[in-house]
Amino acid sequence: MTLSPKNSGWIEVITGSMFSGKTEELIRRMRRAEIAKMNTVLFKPFIDNRYSSKHVVSHNKSKLESIMVKTSNEIIKYSNEMDVIGIDEAQFFDNQIVDVCKRLADKKIRVIVAGLDTDYRGKPFGFMPQLMCESDYLDKLRAICVICGNPASYTQRTISNSKQVLIGETDMYEARCRNCFELPVND
Ligand code: ZN
Repeated sequence: MTLSPKNSGWIEVITGSMFSGKTEELIRRMRRAEIAKMNTVLFKPFIDNRYSSKHVVSHNKSKLESIMVKTSNEIIKYSNEMDVIGIDEAQFFDNQIVDVCKRLADKKIRVIVAGLDTDYRGKPFGFMPQLMCESDYLDKLRAICVICGNPASYTQRTISNSKQVLIGETDMYEARCRNCFELPVND
């Protein structure tokens, strides 16, 4: 981003498959805002309590303190005096998340949202498609396919289970490219 909006809020979305570095990028942007002496706060949904309950943690173990919320509307009440609000694992939030992000941006807050664009079936995940449409800035990151080394946009589940959400991940998922991704057979 070379030209930032003046006297305005906006929505940045960071998306991609698992292991594409979304959370790492979110943490990087939040840290830079902190260095710039901005008031920042980071949220994650209650569902995701892996590694650490009070922090957002990337796969490479970089972490930042965060507030865990059960509903997207809870984010609004923490937004007073904030310059930058980060939201991780946005695919797990309820249907109010798009409206919440727009309301925050209307309050001249920079909103940085990270989340999976597709689930293990390769289907759009939660309200990420709507968030991507509403974003002013959109980055889709790619992982590396563990089979062939190509850029990877899919999240392959390596165990048989038809629940959309399985927490515990690293050993149950891997990044795959379009050619190596295999649709689950049991659903
Ligand atoms: Zn591949």
